[in-house]
Amino acid sequence: MICPKCEAEYVEDVKICPVCNIELIPKKDFELNLVHHEDWTTVYTTDELYKAEMIKANLKGGNIEAIILSQKDKSFPSAGDLSVVKLLVKKEDAEDAIKLIEDINKE
Ligand SMILES: [Zn+2]
Repeated sequence: MICPKCEAEYVEDVKICPVCNIELIPKKDFELNLVHHEDWTTVYTTDELYKAEMIKANLKGGNIEAIILSQKDKSFPSAGDLSVVKLLVKKEDAEDAIKLIEDINKE
């Protein structure tokens, strides 16, 4: 669970943020909301989760915060190529993130 205001994370049985006194939302919902948030932008799309995770780790090493969102169609388990994994960073980090990703993909 996460506080939508101060972004603090809590264990599942906590319902209200003691700091902001507002209702917590599931972390998954919070990250989904960020997709539509103007401060975040998609810098990388892949169909393989491990690639997104590798790049996220590299961005973290460069002090860039990243979020992975994956949309898998579980009704077609054999169609792995239909799954889309997106990597999002804050807009202010986008330029640095894209350069880093280009360097990673060159190797
Ligand atoms: Zn809070």
